[in-house]
Amino acid sequence: MSEAKRPFRILPQLTPENEHTWKGGARGELCFLRCGDCGTWIHPPSPVCPECLSRKLAPAAVSGRARLLTWTVNHHPWIPGFDPPYVIAIVEIEEQRGLRFTTNLVNCTPEELTMDMPVRVVFEERDDGIFLPLFEPAR
Ligand SMILES: [Zn+2]
Repeated sequence: MSEAKRPFRILPQLTPENEHTWKGGARGELCFLRCGDCGTWIHPPSPVCPECLSRKLAPAAVSGRARLLTWTVNHHPWIPGFDPPYVIAIVEIEEQRGLRFTTNLVNCTPEELTMDMPVRVVFEERDDGIFLPLFEPAR
């Protein structure tokens, strides 16, 4: 997509703790921290596993499949260049109950959305090697 066609988006501030999530899209992977001891997925990043307190955490890729947990449709032009309407959503990643990710839904209209609908990740390449994980209906 050309620079002019890409919608404005607020980009994440990269840190050593979170860049696996924002850069994994370069490999087509949606990545979160995973506990090497009990297998729990962790997002947002934390230095310890909330389940077993292990510090043996490393980024790993999920399938990219999720379900739509909740959403809101913004109709107000709050941000110049980020034109409404757009959908702000929380999706639950398939691999683990409670593994939630706040995102934008794309390639659909607000009218198409239903609770629990299957969605899948798509990546939008931005500057600085950031690949924003967005979600679209899994048709
Ligand atoms: Zn653990």
